[in-house]
Amino acid sequence: MNGYAGNILRLNLTERKVSTMLTSDYEDWGGGHGMGSAIFFDLVKDKTIDGFDPANVVTIMTSPLCGTLVPAASGRTEVQGIGVQSYPIGWFTRSNFGGRFGAMLKYAGWDGIVIEGRADHPVWIDIRDGDVQIRDCAELSLWKTDTWECQQSIWSHVVGDGGYGDWFEPRGQDGGHTTQRPAVLAIGPAGENLSRVACLIHDASNGAGQGGFGAVFGSKNLKAISVIGTGRVDINDPKALLATRLWHKENYAFDLAHLKENWASFQFQSPPVPVSLWEKGRPRIDQRPQACLGCHSGCRARYKDAVGNEASCFTSAFYSDARSLDIQRKASDLINRYGLNAVEMIFGLLYVRILQQGGQLKTAKIPDCPLDFSEYGSKEFVEQFVRMVACGNDGKGNDSQFGADISDGFVRAAEKWGRREEDLASGILAFPYWGLPVHKEPRAQVYWAYGTLLGDRDINEHDYDWLKYMDEESVHFVVKTITDKMVRFQGDMDMLDFSESNIYSEHMAKLVSWQRYYTRFWKQSMLFCDARWPDFVNIHRPDSVGATGMAEPKYVKAVTGRDLSFEDGIELGRKIWNLDQAIWTRQGRHRDMVHFADNLYEKYPSFSIDDGIPNVHMPGKEDGKWGMYGYSQRTLDRDKFEEFKTRFYELQGWDTASGYPTRATLESLELGYVADELEENDKLGEG
Ligand code: SF4
Repeated sequence: MNGYAGNILRLNLTERKVSTMLTSDYEDWGGGHGMGSAIFFDLVKDKTIDGFDPANVVTIMTSPLCGTLVPAASGRTEVQGIGVQSYPIGWFTRSNFGGRFGAMLKYAGWDGIVIEGRADHPVWIDIRDGDVQIRDCAELSLWKTDTWECQQSIWSHVVGDGGYGDWFEPRGQDGGHTTQRPAVLAIGPAGENLSRVACLIHDASNGAGQGGFGAVFGSKNLKAISVIGTGRVDINDPKALLATRLWHKENYAFDLAHLKENWASFQFQSPPVPVSLWEKGRPRIDQRPQACLGCHSGCRARYKDAVGNEASCFTSAFYSDARSLDIQRKASDLINRYGLNAVEMIFGLLYVRILQQGGQLKTAKIPDCPLDFSEYGSKEFVEQFVRMVACGNDGKGNDSQFGADISDGFVRAAEKWGRREEDLASGILAFPYWGLPVHKEPRAQVYWAYGTLLGDRDINEHDYDWLKYMDEESVHFVVKTITDKMVRFQGDMDMLDFSESNIYSEHMAKLVSWQRYYTRFWKQSMLFCDARWPDFVNIHRPDSVGATGMAEPKYVKAVTGRDLSFEDGIELGRKIWNLDQAIWTRQGRHRDMVHFADNLYEKYPSFSIDDGIPNVHMPGKEDGKWGMYGYSQRTLDRDKFEEFKTRFYELQGWDTASGYPTRATLESLELGYVADELEENDKLGEG
């Protein structure tokens, strides 16, 4: 089918073997996450293994839209496998990054990469079109480099030191030509040292942040994957694709000439305009928008002084107490270079600092902390802290038990210090679900907390996030516009009612379900970017109605020729969600494990990225009247949340006593073989 390269690269690092899988065997899943879950399920027979086990399989998948002109979908890549960050079980999980890696992989002739086994010494992968080699890191002295040094060494090695725009023949004179340099995905010292909060970095700041995939790469002795391609992606109907892009840009996208006005309204509507957090609360400095390949949103920045390039969201929010903006931007670069997950670093530093301020760092079970807190805010302080987490030492090259503990993640550190339960309950250890850091205010934006707990990671899906900025007058229109687009459950406006009486209802179960289905397919399999999709309500339209529902299938049809309706995609998302639940069930998940840390049920305040907002307002229907109401100063009700879980499982067609998928549901999704495996392992739900 058009849009696909046709082959998936399979690498067995133990055997140093390179082979090929046919994409057509997995095309029904769309791409990205769907393909990754299906391949993982097929290849990993014992799904109870630890993420560090060599038998863990990591998939790095593109979509048919990668490398094409589809905006905010062309440059994303999905990573999956058993992670090592969550607690108590490292769930089968996912991460996703932007840039140009996925597109370059397609140009080289590959729809994805499947990584198996463990090399007996450090290696990197050199992909030049169809020529793929597993090479020793020693050749280029790559081991012990940071992610930027590693990429620069590979760039120089592969394309030499020519200038931008120079033509290059990656496979010699008989091969193709390109003016590009390779796209490299690398780990830094954190991954090499198996820090559970290590991530993968591509270019300056495209990070597959969650899941600890940097450590999984490190455990496989895999330092980097480099790819350069000279081919193309075949498009089913190039004219239709171009017309759709132009229609989309003219009708639904921001206008660079009116950036300031667009920014003023950004907080109230989607889609985003090219800004970074630094511009929001800090003095403006010289920057220009920077985009992933093919995207017209350009939501990141490049700076005149090249410090903090491409960083956005959590990466740019790290060390916000720095004594100067320059130090904060340098701190962003540090976590990118060392290859660390930004959100874990933010809430981890907050935790250590609260312990220090309360005098609790000196308690018996906590080893000596080498940090000098009188230097908090300085460049030296953050450098030491980053090195401690990345290298598991005192940040200066000396052994430190404290450094080793926090390198294993802050929840596991608290566990070693005998403080996990107490600090999760008080909220100072702000990791309320699966030992993962909080993000959006979980009591107000309950769909975010529910989706994370019922899944495998901080969902980091902003579909309904901007609702908190809405004004009273718009509530009814916006709620109606959004829910009208939510096919399968469309028309049920009560899905967006966040009042106390509704947050445990079947309406809320539908809201959470729809997000799970939409994101699993359209965002994580077709790889439409979270920062841009879905487009529910759009300020650039006279009627304010966004392109979601219309645009996604148009693009898929133009690229692949496949007649896939929006609802078909939602249904495929439901199938993928069920497959993921089956994998978690095989890993040991039972409904009894699915609960928040005590803090969310019992105490206020909690910490979240919305801390600056005293009471997060969300749409609600109070006394029958829609409005914006503050909901973050409540606690969740333990019993009612259990009732919500039952409603949610019922809606999925799962066993409400165990949360296990049932044969009837799996077979209705053509997943009978998944039901067979669950049954063989006594994990099939009743009903
Ligand atoms: S919206 Fe931003 S992160 Fe998403 S594809 Fe575009 S540039 Fe990349």
